[in-house]
Amino acid sequence: MTHPNVDRCPAFIFWLFFRCGDQIDISSEIVNTDLPRRLFEGETRRDFLKTSAAAAVALAGAKLANFASGAPAEAGKQPWYRRAVRWGQTNINEMDPTRYDIPWWREEWKRTRTQGVVINAGGIVAYYPTQVPMHRRAKFLGDHDLFGDLTRAAHSDGLAVFARMDSSGANEDFYHAHPDWFSADAEGRPYRARDLYVPCINGPYYAEHIATILREISARYQPEGFTDNLWSGLERNRICYCANCAKKFRAQAGRDLPSRKDWQDPGYRAWIEWGYACRLEVWDESNRIARAAGGPDCVWVGMNGGSPYGEAQEFRDFKKICQRSEIIMLDDQRRMNATGFQRNGEVGKLVHGVLDWDKVLPESMAMYQTTDPTFRLAAKPEPEARLWMIESIAGGIQPWWHYLGAYGEDRRYYRTPVELCQWHAANEAYLVHRRPVANVGVVWSQRSGDFFGRDDWSAQAALPADGFLQALVHARIPYLPVEVDDIERYDSVQFRLLILPNIGALSDPQVASVRRFVEGGGGLLATGFSSLCDEWGDPRPDFALADLFGAHLPAAHGGRKEETRRRWAAETLHSYLRLSPELRGRVDGPHIGAEPPIRGERHPALDGFAETDILAFGGTLEPLTLDPSAQALATFIPSFPVSPPEDDWMRTPKTDIPGLIVNEKAGRGRVAFLPADLDRRFARDNLPDHGRILANLVRWASRDELPLSVEGPGLIDCHLYHQPGRMVLHLVNLTSAGTWRAPVDELIPVGPFQVRVRLPSDVPGKNLRLLVSGRQVPIAAQGGWARFDVPSILDHEVIAIS
Ligand SMILES: [Zn+2]
Repeated sequence: MTHPNVDRCPAFIFWLFFRCGDQIDISSEIVNTDLPRRLFEGETRRDFLKTSAAAAVALAGAKLANFASGAPAEAGKQPWYRRAVRWGQTNINEMDPTRYDIPWWREEWKRTRTQGVVINAGGIVAYYPTQVPMHRRAKFLGDHDLFGDLTRAAHSDGLAVFARMDSSGANEDFYHAHPDWFSADAEGRPYRARDLYVPCINGPYYAEHIATILREISARYQPEGFTDNLWSGLERNRICYCANCAKKFRAQAGRDLPSRKDWQDPGYRAWIEWGYACRLEVWDESNRIARAAGGPDCVWVGMNGGSPYGEAQEFRDFKKICQRSEIIMLDDQRRMNATGFQRNGEVGKLVHGVLDWDKVLPESMAMYQTTDPTFRLAAKPEPEARLWMIESIAGGIQPWWHYLGAYGEDRRYYRTPVELCQWHAANEAYLVHRRPVANVGVVWSQRSGDFFGRDDWSAQAALPADGFLQALVHARIPYLPVEVDDIERYDSVQFRLLILPNIGALSDPQVASVRRFVEGGGGLLATGFSSLCDEWGDPRPDFALADLFGAHLPAAHGGRKEETRRRWAAETLHSYLRLSPELRGRVDGPHIGAEPPIRGERHPALDGFAETDILAFGGTLEPLTLDPSAQALATFIPSFPVSPPEDDWMRTPKTDIPGLIVNEKAGRGRVAFLPADLDRRFARDNLPDHGRILANLVRWASRDELPLSVEGPGLIDCHLYHQPGRMVLHLVNLTSAGTWRAPVDELIPVGPFQVRVRLPSDVPGKNLRLLVSGRQVPIAAQGGWARFDVPSILDHEVIAIS
């Protein structure tokens, strides 16, 4: 595929943190271009809003009628943000106004069946002839109106347009003109990021400057909505002491800004909660402005990452943002070695869980090399980009290809999204408006990440959750992330098991909801210090769920101290777990004198370990007091030297410190409690034994009532969905050599697989379609289960059962 501009274009200058764009032109929807000018010349704000809103509403109707692009028949009744499911973005740089080949990109939109584009409009720089003071025009914009040309082209092709903003920074001139609009440290020095000055979200930069830009863009170009690349201002790690923040915090919290970070200080805790509330105000106010200017469907949606714990570092209340948004534009462009492609499948399910499964969730997917190291202008190996896109689709995310700059000399990446997007368009009916089928819920809590994890949130909150993700994917067990306050939103028919991956901070009502779930027959698998602390991260005298765990914290337990937990999480010691009962002598191996008789059978949670009495561990444990009903399946072997070999022997071969406890009482669900942090260790160390124990516990505590079984070699991520009258099973092959070290540059086929799917009452299980390979395979339905084989999977297969 040849880019027609190859010979004309000068060398590239890319600005690392920009995205977006396309263009074309013609069309004639421009109206009232004098509105912003009138505003500046003295028209009242109220008059301006009235006029521009009326104009925009009229235009919105005309545009929506024009917006077609391949949606289902009934989709005409849906607003644009429900109909546009395939997105594209050419992230414009300041050179691009001189060289944007609009006709070529217009063809790329068509090839990729793109229904919406994100186009750089304003913020750090403007890509249109703005009249807003201090809104700097792009360096090479000249007389061009690149944003306008692209928006008109997209609209005449029937595409929706998000005008992309970036409110996160301004240059030195702007700072000196309005120093009081910018965030500042305790000494009044401005905070900087990426060589730019960071505006304060509580000052006139947002309330006046950005607001005026939104109105100007809306009045001139009528985009369907707005995104904002980095919209939430200063991150959680830095306290803004500007006059606006000091005044607002005093008025709303009744106290002065905290002098420093101190999680024990009530003032700092109040500032944390206030910081979230201020960002939600930005969200709501931006939406109010956008809708007033552009009509009721003109939504402002910022841009957000896919991890609630990561978003917490940006002060973004993940759940409340999702609940107030009609569409979420995810900025999560690449896979990381530690969490793999499967992370994207999890993100889709996690976000949809709080967003709604009928809303659209596009994710920006880099077509350039962006897994360490980053080369914005070089093509990412096609299999690497493709697998990330496939995993997102499997998790319920919609594709959104992303390039840096309008002119690329590594033309291989223009081919990358084409085939997959065409497949997506052809099979769209199977990929949206579906409900996940899973009866294992993995609980997440952004607040626990904040107030329990605090500055160690990655080790205390993110890693334990990641460990379970990996274990469940390896074991091919369908699961759903569940926000902690939503536990009772799902009825116990959906979930057989709840997992608490070191959810250390739980409020009393949250504890009560977990308790009701178990008392109603649901299983519980908790790890680490789950339920130890209250909602502020202050330790209780004992685990709030101690009676369910069958385990209690003695008064002197070191885990009550935050510093101790932090140290334990960070270190990897030469410690072990001893499995109980020991099976010495049952299998061949060296013996020491007469072996004691073997008492009892191993618990199913220890299946697969008949040839060992110990497992590698790495952590630290302290004594717990067990209830009579509780049974310790593994105990702690304290660390001893690794080297020299002369020193390498167990000083204390046996303790009664429990590492794994099961507690089963008649009439309620099975409970397993893992004081040993095998979830965090599996995420970090990738030792298969840790993953196997986690998967065994999931099977036992859920009473093996899982809706899916997939047999056959390889690493396969399994996502199961229900639509009226049919099941949709998405299998993603992650067996490639580069799965654990990016990038993948070769796909390796695996198979055959023997699959069993439990059928709901509205799915007879008589027909089967393989939507990727198109192969014909037989299906048998019996006893409420469908059975079939999938002969081979290259990158993915989608199986529709009806
Ligand atoms: Zn401030």
